[in-house]
Amino acid sequence: MRIAERRKCDVLVCGGGTAGLGAAVAAARGGARTILLERHGHCGGICVSSLVHTFDGARSCRDNSQFVVGGIPREVIARLDRLHGLALDDNPPETLNFDPEAMKRVSDHMLREAGVTVYYHLFAAEVLREGDRVAAVIAAGKEGLWEIRPAVVIDTTGDGDVSYFAGAQFEKHSLLQTMSQHFRMGGLTGDRGWEVLEQECRRAMDKAYAEGRAPKYGGPWLIRIRPGEITANCTRLYGDGTKTEDLSRAEMQGRDDMVSILEIFRHDIPDFRSAYVLVSGSEIGVRETRRIVGDYQMTAADVLEGRSHADPIALGSWPIDIHPADGRVGVHPHKEDPPAPYPIPLRALLVKDIANLMVAGRCLSATHEAHGSTRVSGTAMATGEACGTLAALAAKRGVGLREVPYVDLQQQLLTQGVILTSAGASSHNGARRGS
Ligand SMILES: Cc1cc2nc3c(=O)[nH]c(=O)nc-3n(C[C@H](O)[C@H](O)[C@H](O)COP(=O)(O)OP(=O)(O)OC[C@H]3O[C@@H](n4cnc5c(N)ncnc54)[C@H](O)[C@@H]3O)c2cc1C
Repeated sequence: MRIAERRKCDVLVCGGGTAGLGAAVAAARGGARTILLERHGHCGGICVSSLVHTFDGARSCRDNSQFVVGGIPREVIARLDRLHGLALDDNPPETLNFDPEAMKRVSDHMLREAGVTVYYHLFAAEVLREGDRVAAVIAAGKEGLWEIRPAVVIDTTGDGDVSYFAGAQFEKHSLLQTMSQHFRMGGLTGDRGWEVLEQECRRAMDKAYAEGRAPKYGGPWLIRIRPGEITANCTRLYGDGTKTEDLSRAEMQGRDDMVSILEIFRHDIPDFRSAYVLVSGSEIGVRETRRIVGDYQMTAADVLEGRSHADPIALGSWPIDIHPADGRVGVHPHKEDPPAPYPIPLRALLVKDIANLMVAGRCLSATHEAHGSTRVSGTAMATGEACGTLAALAAKRGVGLREVPYVDLQQQLLTQGVILTSAGASSHNGARRGS
């Protein structure tokens, strides 16, 4: 194998989505020499590249006035606000919508200020194992192959690519949640709010589908960041987001479906008569693929009953939200009885049988059902912060991840303003703007 570039570091974060951003910033702030590699030219993950520009799981889905995340996610929200990148009005009360362009800049700023070495345009493509450790990650760049040797690796690729290459145990459901191509439209007229428009869009899609004029669709759910524009979460595409052929097919189908849906909106809803596509996601949004098996696997009971754990590192707060891949269209039930905020244990981030590998975000250790809740972006960033914090503590002490006493991690997370319990959540009242 010809290696073009070689690097060493304490902590290597693979994937710069919301989870990777939290992990890299926390690790570097904790004093670890940290590298973040990301295949795209920006961070933010699918919140940016797939136009999923919304944080759920940041506020309690039972009580929208309460934040359940603190620390880095709250800082990101505050920084988005400072760049006028938060959409505060005319959106569902439980969501926090933002401008994806602002997210790119906030990520760059935070990574730079924390001292993270960022390598964009690197794709993690292989792992070298030595015993129970990841010795190196091999990534592909324009120079050829890079070999990066870290003490600790944090896999925040969403799909768990690095864990997969490392031979970690994983699960993949037989009916993976559907993928979607989000698209943002401009040229809307009128001053009707999101709720009315969403209902109109749903009526239009239901009617068109019944008449055989519409492709398979979900929702629609709308995201609004400024007047005259709207992002639609509406296409429904089938396949496995870790299969190149499925992804290629879904990308092309998604763009066809986007145009069909726009035509339905234009035809049936006066506000959309002059609407046009401003931009579609530069990659299809993938909801579910590999779930890596950790020291503990979160279950539906953890989410629905808020089971307590001895090692909480963040709170989750989203219903079990599984976009059905069985041919159903429209809105699927999930928000009727939202669970109380529930703790996520550290053990769900420690990859089973691999000493120096952690997972955060979409690929953390959870069953298909629990993943339907833990996968949201606010939760992803909070779990990333926990991984980065633990990795830095281990690096500083020169010990393994499992040798850092939980109380030390807990203390450090609390110092960073992380919310670990529901009692902690209620003490962080939810002024809608981040402080
Ligand atoms: C269509 C859709 C709609 C959704 N709607 C919502 C919503 O309304 N609210 C909500 O909160 N959540 C929503 N979600 C879920 C949520 O957005 C994601 O699960 C969450 O953002 C995942 O964050 P992450 O950091 O784990 O992964 P990602 O955001 O996927 O980030 C992974 C990063 O790793 C990079 N990467 C991947 N593989 C490699 C590799 N091998 N080498 C280098 N880099 C790599 C990617 O480019 C990406 O930047 C939605 C998801 C989808 C797909």
